[in-house]
Amino acid sequence: MAKNTRAKSTRPAFPDIVRPFQIEGSDVRGRLVRLGPAFDMVLSQHDYPPPVARLMGETLALAAVLAATVKYDGVFNLQAKGSGPVDLVVADVDSEGGLRGYARYDKTHFDSGEEPEYSIPRLMGTGHLAFTVDQGPDTDRYQGITPLEGASLSECAQIYFRTSEQLETAILLAAELDTGASAKIDTMHGRAGALLVQRLPDGPSLARTEEEREEDWRNAVVLMSSLSAAELLNPDIPSNGILYRLYHEKGVRVFNSRPIEFRCRCSRDKIAEALASFSPESLIDMKTDAGVIVATCEFCHTDYKFDEDQIEILRDT
Ligand SMILES: [Zn+2]
Repeated sequence: MAKNTRAKSTRPAFPDIVRPFQIEGSDVRGRLVRLGPAFDMVLSQHDYPPPVARLMGETLALAAVLAATVKYDGVFNLQAKGSGPVDLVVADVDSEGGLRGYARYDKTHFDSGEEPEYSIPRLMGTGHLAFTVDQGPDTDRYQGITPLEGASLSECAQIYFRTSEQLETAILLAAELDTGASAKIDTMHGRAGALLVQRLPDGPSLARTEEEREEDWRNAVVLMSSLSAAELLNPDIPSNGILYRLYHEKGVRVFNSRPIEFRCRCSRDKIAEALASFSPESLIDMKTDAGVIVATCEFCHTDYKFDEDQIEILRDT
């Protein structure tokens, strides 16, 4: 007996996804990222003002999309540091797809409730954007750095690729928060997305002429620019539907998605290790009146408490 088990008309889910793809017969590859639950987890652990939350969403999506273009075994880290009301925003992705992030900002700046214009110069001022891939001790640390010179985070990243890497790259980033009646129950919900296309110097279409390859690339970028932020974040359009809409004419080959989900890598041992590196005097300064040290993970806001005896052990290590 066929039973209609469908839930009543709620909006379709917006699952976390990292989808690699290739435009057929060309040197253009791409990555599509959409973050729903992972972004919600970050939002639920921090009470960000809306512009900071949106910047956080774009930073998570940018980290996820860039991490998906490199092969690594370790941690891909993206951070922007600036002189503005948001002085730090960080996101990292480990090679198993664990994603996390946090932003540091001047609360008083946003207390007025007035929404500053959403742009990198207004939110972050001047500073830089840095990428690192940390593959553990005794390995080379890859690092890229670029000044925060664009109006948006995607522009800053594109400037980096234009000036530092030999890869032509175009990136679209978007993030939005749920507003209206469904929002503000107890957690904030959001959606973030990124679409990246990249021209590979040694792609599969070597048989094509230089002009044809140039045209393939230009078309891929023009088509990408035809996608609006609202479409990228629309749960009614599935991820493959977006890619099909944009690139069906030439054909698009979609690969298995790479894992991505919110996961913090903090642990009591790691925090203890960090505390042990401080001098005994600083450890005493960190003690509360109750004689304990409470260290909070900036990413997931977990508190790790160390009592007198445990602090003694830290001091001796
Ligand atoms: Zn944590």
